[in-house]
Amino acid sequence: MKQTLTIDELLESDFLKNVPEESLVLTSSTSTIDYSHFQQWSRDTSDEKAIMIRLLPLAANFARPPISNFKVGAIAQGLSGNLYFGANMEFTGDTLSFSIHAEQSAINNAWLSGETGLKAIAINAAPCGYCRQFLNELPEQNPELTILLKKDKDLFSSEFEEKPLEHFLPEAFGPADLDISDRLMLPVTHEVKVEGEADLEKLAISAASKSYVPYTQCIAGVAIETRDGRKIAGRYAENAAYNPSLSPMHSALSQLNLNTPPDTEFEVKSVVLAERVMANGASQRRLTESMVNAVQPDAEFSYIAL
Ligand SMILES: [Zn+2]
Repeated sequence: MKQTLTIDELLESDFLKNVPEESLVLTSSTSTIDYSHFQQWSRDTSDEKAIMIRLLPLAANFARPPISNFKVGAIAQGLSGNLYFGANMEFTGDTLSFSIHAEQSAINNAWLSGETGLKAIAINAAPCGYCRQFLNELPEQNPELTILLKKDKDLFSSEFEEKPLEHFLPEAFGPADLDISDRLMLPVTHEVKVEGEADLEKLAISAASKSYVPYTQCIAGVAIETRDGRKIAGRYAENAAYNPSLSPMHSALSQLNLNTPPDTEFEVKSVVLAERVMANGASQRRLTESMVNAVQPDAEFSYIAL
């Protein structure tokens, strides 16, 4: 079953016929769509939601699921109105729990792009329990964050159902149960005394200072440099249920994936992990080294203790 569409295939359809060319460049290269472009396609909110649904096969195009071959796309709409793609990733030879889900990927994309909350998230398959728990870490919004689910398998269909997270996760366990008032995506800057020398080190340290760590206080950030000189950062995002936490390496890899043309190699040159490990806390070191090994065994890995 075909699960994805390329931008060319999408252009051949009626949909996107009147879209200005510059917004398509944005779509294929950065996995975000600026609201000013998005507004040109939609006249009211219901149109906006339908467009998010129709863009899902394009987001799924970024998926890398070599184990399941099940491609999932997600489109998050930030409070600014901008759209952020997300796609699932699996890592051959590593544990399944290293996988990144499309919803996590889209939320991470929005967060790293400066959003402080979401209006809506569209998905081409029902959110799994893990993602429902991940979504439960986001700030409460008014109006409430809604989940848009694609209704049928037709790639060009924009039929969807819209429901709040509470529908998918009744009687939820979340940060409030642990007396935590922070929420994922809300702006925060942790004080960091260590300074990086190289640009990549500075990037990892800066990412660590913006990580979401209300449960362990172990701030952590990763910066990846590719062989063609691109530098991409990822931040650690904790979760009240612990397991759905997103490691900084996962965060950076997901963002690298969304900034790499589908089906091309990543070409990672070096990876820097910057973290502060508290007593009885958590460390990202072993997981990060293992993932570097899985993605690019000859990449240089360096570690900064904050
Ligand atoms: Zn999931």
